[in-house]
Amino acid sequence: MKVLKFGGTSVGSVENMNAVMNLITDGKKKLVVLSAMSGTTNALVEISDYLHKKNKDVARAQIGKLELQYKEVVSNLFKEEARKKEGLQIIKKCFETIRQEASGAFDQTNEQAILAQGELMSTGLFTQLMLENGYNTKLLPALDFMRIDAEKSADLHAITVNIEKVMKEVGDADYYITQGFICRNDKDEIDNLQRGGSDYTASLIGAALYAEEIQIWTDIDGFHNNDPRYVSNTKKIEQLSFNETAELAYFGAKILHPQTVLPAKLHNIPVRLKNTMNPSDPGTLITSETSGSGIKAVAAKDGITAIKVRSDRMLMAYGFLKSIFEIFEFFKTPIDMISTSEVAVSLTIDNTSKLKDILKELKEYGEVLVDEEQTIICIVGDIIGEERGFASKVFNALEGIPIRMISYGGSRHNISVLVPTAFKQKTLQAISDNLLEN
Ligand code: ASP
Ligand code: MG
Repeated sequence: MKVLKFGGTSVGSVENMNAVMNLITDGKKKLVVLSAMSGTTNALVEISDYLHKKNKDVARAQIGKLELQYKEVVSNLFKEEARKKEGLQIIKKCFETIRQEASGAFDQTNEQAILAQGELMSTGLFTQLMLENGYNTKLLPALDFMRIDAEKSADLHAITVNIEKVMKEVGDADYYITQGFICRNDKDEIDNLQRGGSDYTASLIGAALYAEEIQIWTDIDGFHNNDPRYVSNTKKIEQLSFNETAELAYFGAKILHPQTVLPAKLHNIPVRLKNTMNPSDPGTLITSETSGSGIKAVAAKDGITAIKVRSDRMLMAYGFLKSIFEIFEFFKTPIDMISTSEVAVSLTIDNTSKLKDILKELKEYGEVLVDEEQTIICIVGDIIGEERGFASKVFNALEGIPIRMISYGGSRHNISVLVPTAFKQKTLQAISDNLLEN
C-alpha cells in the first residue's frame, strides 16, 4: 500500500478537492493524509493569539468569519442534500469545539485543540466527497493512533500498534483518509507535530505500515537545486538520498518538514515528492541511494545567531567544550554549526528564546561575541572523497563574500557556510553560477 499526503493548497478549494479525488481513485488501495485547507491553520493560530491576549471579541468575530467560509465550501462541495447535511454537521461539531475551547481561561492545551479542527474538517469533508462519488472510503481518526512522548518526539512504536487496531476497527476499504499534523501527547491531550507536520504524519504512517512508497504531494514539482525565490534558473532534482534530503529540509528548503525522512529512512521506504498541478511528472525520488557525485543542491536557513566564546583557559585544556555545550543543553537550545580554534569556539543557534540566560552563563568562561542576522548556506551532495580540490572550488566560488564560519568534513554530504543574511542572495547566486549544473 502507498501512503499519499496532500498539503493545504491541494485541498484548499472545492475544485482542488475534486482534483485530488480524481487523482487518487485508480482502484489501488491507499492511505491518504490531508492537511487543513490552506489558510485554516494560520487563521486558527491567529484566533488563538487573540485568545491568549484575552481579546475575546476579535477572536469571536474571526471564528464567525471562518465558519462562514466553511459553510460556503460545504454548499459547493456536495450535490446530494443528505451529504450537505452531513457536511454541515461536521463543520458544526468542529466550530462548537472551537467556541467551547475559547470560552474559559485559555492555555496551550486549548490552543492545541483549536488547531486540530482544521485537519478534522478537511478530512471529514473529503471523506464525504469520496462517499458521495461512490468510493469505498473510511476515515481513520488520527487522534486514536498518532502519539508523541513527553519529549514531544513521535512514538513510532505506539503509532504502529495503534494504527493496526484502528484499521481493524473501521474495517476494510479501498481508500483510507486520515488527518495530518494532529496527535495526542503523553497526557492524552490533543497536540500536534508542529507546523507543516502533515508530511511527518505521512512518513510515520508509512513506516508504521511498511508502505510501498510515501508520496508527498504539493504544488511544486519536487526539490530544486537552489531556492527559486532567490535565484533564477533552478533545476529540479530527480533523485536524492535520505541523508541529503535531511540536510536540505532542515537547512531551509521549505518543501518538506525536516523530520519527514527519519521514519522513512528507518524502514527504508522510498519517499516521492509530487506536484498536484502536474501529476505525470515523476517529481523527486528520495531513497537510501546516493546517485552521482559533486554538488547537487543548496539551501539557506535564515534567522541564525552566531556566538563566539574566546578563552585562554581553553588552551591545551580538556573538558572546556563540554562545559560550553552543557549550557546549551541545560537551556534546551540546539546547536547547528560549530567551528573551533585552540582558544575560541564559534557556534550557531536558531532558537534565541534563551539567549540572554545562555550568554550570562557563557560569560563565566570567557569573552563572548554575538552576531545576529546570519544565514546558513548548506551545500549538499556526495562531496567529500569523490572530488579533490572541492573546498578550493567552494572558496573560489564565494570570493568577495564575508564568510563568518565554515563547516567541512562533518559528513560527506554537506558543507555549510555561515554568511550575514544581507549576503544570502549573492551567495546563492554565486553557488548557482559557479558550482551547480543548470
Ligand atoms: N495544517 C498544518 C499547518 O499548516 C500542518 C500541515 O499543513 O502540514 O502547519
Ligand atoms: Mg507543508
